[in-house]
Amino acid sequence: MTRPQWIIKKDWLHERVRAVGRCINEAHGGGELTVVPVLTGALIFSGDLMHWIEDVSVRVQLAQAASYEREVPGDLKVDLSQVDRRHVTGKNVLIVDDILDTGRTMHELAGRIGSMNPASLRIAVLLRKRARHDPDCPVEPDYVGFEIPDLFVVGYGLDVDGLHRHWSYIGVWGQHLERNEHEQIVSDIQRQLGQPPQTALA
Ligand code: 5GP
Ligand code: MG
Repeated sequence: MTRPQWIIKKDWLHERVRAVGRCINEAHGGGELTVVPVLTGALIFSGDLMHWIEDVSVRVQLAQAASYEREVPGDLKVDLSQVDRRHVTGKNVLIVDDILDTGRTMHELAGRIGSMNPASLRIAVLLRKRARHDPDCPVEPDYVGFEIPDLFVVGYGLDVDGLHRHWSYIGVWGQHLERNEHEQIVSDIQRQLGQPPQTALA
């Protein structure tokens, strides 16, 4: 089996997910929260994240977004058929996704969930690639795990042709980074561990 170059270690993922979870826990402590994981990419992140939202009564409502075909984004398909409006309208809602790339998926999702009139709507993404952001799809996530450069990444929920989502770390797929470039990316990721995951405070 091919092993890609890692850019985010397992321990760093755990540390950051815990920090994001603690912020969400503080924001909603004592109250209720409807968490909407965007499958399949958010499978691992949302599960780990919810462990840290301990003081909140959490309800899970699953959304499904079509997966991306390698580096070529396919048609956008967002399925909210499993989301019960009763748990969205008038409720505090948090959408959780693996990665904000062009922003098209999240723009569509947040628009559709927003139209169900939640009391509040927040967005948590594990990764964000600012380089590919589509200006026609403005999205401002409230919590960001790591900002990464424009690389195709795999692991911790992110797949390549449906495979490797279970990897405990995040690696680069389909390209080899030279040593200097790799070191630069890794040190930038490490630096982000020391910063707040709440974008409003960053
Ligand atoms: P967007 O609509 O923001 O362009 O894309 C979001 C979706 O594309 C993500 O939820 C994810 O499923 C997929 N995606 C974007 N970038 C990557 C990547 O680097 N690796 C993988 N595996 N999926 C990605
Ligand atoms: Mg996704």
